[in-house]
Amino acid sequence: MKLLISNATTSTHLLGEDSDQEVTINLVITNSIISEISIRPIVGEFDQIIDAKGLFLSPGFVDPQVHFREPGMEYKEDIESGSKAAAKGGFTQVISMPNTTPVADTPPVIANMKQRSQDVGICKVHPTGSLSIGLAGKSITDFKALKGAGAVAITDDGKGVQSDALFKLALTLAKDVNLPILDHAEDESLSAGGSIHRGKISQKYNVKGIAADSESIHIERGCNLAKETGAHYHALHVSTKKSIDAIKQAKSSGVKVTAEVSPHHLLLCDEDIAVKSDGSLDANWKMNPPLRSRQDMLACQQALIDGTFDAIATDHAPHSPDEKSLPIELAPFGIIGLETAFPLIYSYFVKTQQLTLARCVDLMSKQAGELFGIQCGRLLIGACADICLLDLSTPFTVDDSYFASKSNNSPFKEFALYGKPVLTINSGKIVYQE
Ligand SMILES: [Zn+2]
Repeated sequence: MKLLISNATTSTHLLGEDSDQEVTINLVITNSIISEISIRPIVGEFDQIIDAKGLFLSPGFVDPQVHFREPGMEYKEDIESGSKAAAKGGFTQVISMPNTTPVADTPPVIANMKQRSQDVGICKVHPTGSLSIGLAGKSITDFKALKGAGAVAITDDGKGVQSDALFKLALTLAKDVNLPILDHAEDESLSAGGSIHRGKISQKYNVKGIAADSESIHIERGCNLAKETGAHYHALHVSTKKSIDAIKQAKSSGVKVTAEVSPHHLLLCDEDIAVKSDGSLDANWKMNPPLRSRQDMLACQQALIDGTFDAIATDHAPHSPDEKSLPIELAPFGIIGLETAFPLIYSYFVKTQQLTLARCVDLMSKQAGELFGIQCGRLLIGACADICLLDLSTPFTVDDSYFASKSNNSPFKEFALYGKPVLTINSGKIVYQE
């Protein structure tokens, strides 16, 4: 199988050069590998030719945090529908969280997820193993065995690890097997029973709030323990200014700390939560950590621009319309994000010239992969042909019909955006085409 992509625009940075210049290239994929790249026309016999004039050619995106719900909650999403949502968003690799049913706390569950992802063949799904058995926060899982089955990281995501002793033990053991610990930072003594950020909005609507400190206390703990143990500590979905300050300080003192941020924490705050016709808050704006204060949101934006964040993660968390139409106190936490992530970051940070396109792509590919030791994010001869084509010039509006996910719980409906992925290639195979 030989495929030619002709007349695509890209950045010399993404071709592995030191510069960041716009350049028009032709690129050949032979089977699963990029076999030729040239600024001159490429002649030869091809099974398929894609004219990419006017489109931007990017390495496939990597998402450090998704929930594909399989096994156990396939009515929300499964590995196939989640992979389709990923492909529609330009993603070719995702890291899946272990809060499935059963929990990914044993090698067979991990191995099955990996096998399912390979059988589906739309997106590379890299599973994580849970830190504690059954996500119960009591006893540690067998990290070496989980890694042996294919886990790329250890995390109890969905829940904070309440025991300091257990978290320290986890960091020590993870260092021994060379895996990062991904921390869903949440001190439940400050969050239990809360649905949205604790602040003016939670007061106004009389909804129990989640204190900002519930996150930063755990992130400060993680930074301190990373320093003590030498382990790789990664803060998931960071949402508060205080957390960012702790991460900045740890990074500047050389501690192996990395952090990610999600598009919703960059672009929405608690004041943006939609109000339904009955005057109550709409649960499609409910996720954990919650949309924070405007000040926290602005701090997240600043930390994205100044390089404190290593990657952008969607925390794609599908739920059925029935579940999300419940009162906000009863509805589950989480929103979907794969299909809208790049268009949001492109529209709000690149088009506004706060980030270069090359940096935006790095935050969503190379740097995200590096967290897990995955080499990717450059258009190089001999590299795996994971790429996407992006339409940067045609505006589009997000609506229900836009999503490939089984669910549509997104607060970004009706947003007018640029940067729609129009074609995605995973290991040389076209897995999405508009
Ligand atoms: Zn989480």
